[in-house]
Amino acid sequence: MEQQLPDTAIDLPVTALKGVGKTAAESLAEMDIKTVGDLIMTFPYRHEDFQLKDLADTPHNERVTVEGRVESEPAVLYLGRKKSRTQVRLLVGRHLIKAVFFNQPYIKNKLALGAVVTVTGKWDRGRQVITVTSHTIGPRTEGQDFEPVYSLKGSMQMRTFRKLMRQALDLAKTEMEDCLPRRFLDGYQLESIQQALEWVHFPPDGEALKKARRRFVYEELLLFQLKMQVLKKRNREAEGGTFVNYNNEELRRFITSLPFELTNAQKRAVNEICRDLKDPCRMNRLLQGDVGSGKTVVAAIAIFAAATAGMQSALMAPTEILAEQHAQTIDGWFRPFGLNIALLTGSVKGSRRKELLRQLEAGEIDLLIGTHALIQPEVKFRGLGLVITDEQHRFGVDQRRVLRDKGYNPDTLFMTATPIPRTLAISAFGEMDISVIDEMPAGRKEIQTFWTKKELFGKVVQRMEQELRAGRQAYVICPLIEESDKLDYQNAVELYGQLSEIFRGRYTVGLMHGRLHPDEKEEVMRRFSEGEISVLVSTTVVEVGVNVPNATFMLIYDAERFGLAQLHQLRGRVGRGSEQSYCVLLADPKTEDGKERMSSMTETNDGFVLAEKDLKLRGPGDFFGRKQSGIPEFRMADLVHDYRALETARKDAEKLVNSDEFWTEEETACLRSHLEASGVLTAERLD
Ligand code: ADP
Ligand code: MG
Repeated sequence: MEQQLPDTAIDLPVTALKGVGKTAAESLAEMDIKTVGDLIMTFPYRHEDFQLKDLADTPHNERVTVEGRVESEPAVLYLGRKKSRTQVRLLVGRHLIKAVFFNQPYIKNKLALGAVVTVTGKWDRGRQVITVTSHTIGPRTEGQDFEPVYSLKGSMQMRTFRKLMRQALDLAKTEMEDCLPRRFLDGYQLESIQQALEWVHFPPDGEALKKARRRFVYEELLLFQLKMQVLKKRNREAEGGTFVNYNNEELRRFITSLPFELTNAQKRAVNEICRDLKDPCRMNRLLQGDVGSGKTVVAAIAIFAAATAGMQSALMAPTEILAEQHAQTIDGWFRPFGLNIALLTGSVKGSRRKELLRQLEAGEIDLLIGTHALIQPEVKFRGLGLVITDEQHRFGVDQRRVLRDKGYNPDTLFMTATPIPRTLAISAFGEMDISVIDEMPAGRKEIQTFWTKKELFGKVVQRMEQELRAGRQAYVICPLIEESDKLDYQNAVELYGQLSEIFRGRYTVGLMHGRLHPDEKEEVMRRFSEGEISVLVSTTVVEVGVNVPNATFMLIYDAERFGLAQLHQLRGRVGRGSEQSYCVLLADPKTEDGKERMSSMTETNDGFVLAEKDLKLRGPGDFFGRKQSGIPEFRMADLVHDYRALETARKDAEKLVNSDEFWTEEETACLRSHLEASGVLTAERLD
């Protein structure tokens, strides 16, 4: 069938390339490569390094490329059908070494005495032998230092793919146009798209590869930040944002009535939030603060402010038990002022529920607390001005958008106890304003953390019993029960059995894990917080927000299995009262990273310091745990190493989005079309 060919090479189907038949085209399609343009935008994930190295500096068993002169007749040893071993002596600089080629007997004829060859392979330092995996006869030619390595699918071979890439670049590279405005390319001395494309695939040297990468990293981060900044701007300018004209006088009275003085960090956060409330824009703010830094009271102040303006608030917690705790705490603070708090949970049913919903709709309730069920359509407010969500990091950008657009237009505050390194915060939460509480209330006792070998379990349990004897409670945390089946880790059930035996007749042990029914979980948690259970054996489901100030001891089993951020979160369950608390990490880490994590935990209680470390050790993907991290995946950029580029891109994006030229000028048309493609502009038009 005759097909109309496009005018441009980049739009040609890959089958237009020499050597691409049906099978190759299918493999390419599996990689989402349909056109020549798709192909050249498929970047290698690494490069094979063929730079010449000095053998004196090459560690044992490392891959190395050297140039040498043949010093002996090659000797071929046949090892069976099709199997052979060819050995030759090479003079490499001052080293006389052996090069061994497997199953290439014909090479003998090319290795004449005195010939120069370049070989790559594993270096056996002790025996002074290179086992050759690739070679070229003749001296090293310029521009062969790196070979791109792509992630391939189907039956596609690396050699073939590289050849296709070469063809595609030669054919279509010149058609690629720069999306980045001239002033950025010049200002940051970034390579042109054409140069960068050539070098990202076939860099003549390491320097070129770096330059190419630098350009694409910036471009990628700029596009991403543009999207974030547009969302932010949209949000700020959205029609019908709430203007909470709170009563300053009354708010002051409330703050003075609190049983403690706010820390400076809390005051700063309160000011930032109040400024947003007063502003007719829609607040969209993340409140970040380590466990125990006192976020709840900041939320309460915002809620109080809204109430003085006659507006209702909703406070959403991830679990019912947390919702109840919030309700209790806040009710204590609000009662003298006659504010009306209601708790809506699954156990509020029938006529009570009906009455509650009626009061809510009539505006008789100032604050409704509960789980996410709060913002279901049948729950109607009279004037919802403020929605606060606790532990929000479990949701990604788009889920947050849905939450906010659910038919309400209230100010929103998201609280998280995960200290998030700034690079991650401005990526995962790039469309929000951020307030940070980076200071603990005075007089807190630091949790003392120890790291012990697992064989000392018995000793640790004795130490735990000391605390129990003093009337306090303990947590014992172990890795997920689901995984323990497979990975042979001590599971919660086993540990529970063991401890029940040890404490039989003296202390009650409780068990909590993800397989329990939500009602059972609630029940166990309630019994623990009421002191009926002394020792709670639990998987990490206990992680989020639970407050039992009488718990002063935490034992974390197999602690090396957890990331730093998570260990820190877990540890934050103790040290919530006035007593000295302890955290013992039971771990025999096998890797250096694991050991470093354990020592870091014993060295600092500062969540932000640990978070930065965690990010460096585990990388952004793992930072929040596997699922729903909300962190975008980048093709080139790496949030740990490219944080400076990220900061720059963010500033540039902010400036662009808020300038008039950006929306009209020719130079930025390509950037705008990217935004259009990502859907953020379309949404604005519908508003
Ligand atoms: P988190 O940030 O983990 O949610 P909370 O809001 O639960 O922390 O606060 C932890 C504890 O510290 C609570 O008992 C709270 O009443 C108390 N608290 C909060 N702010 C202060 C403060 N400025 N001074 C003293 N105690 C405070
Ligand atoms: Mg909290």
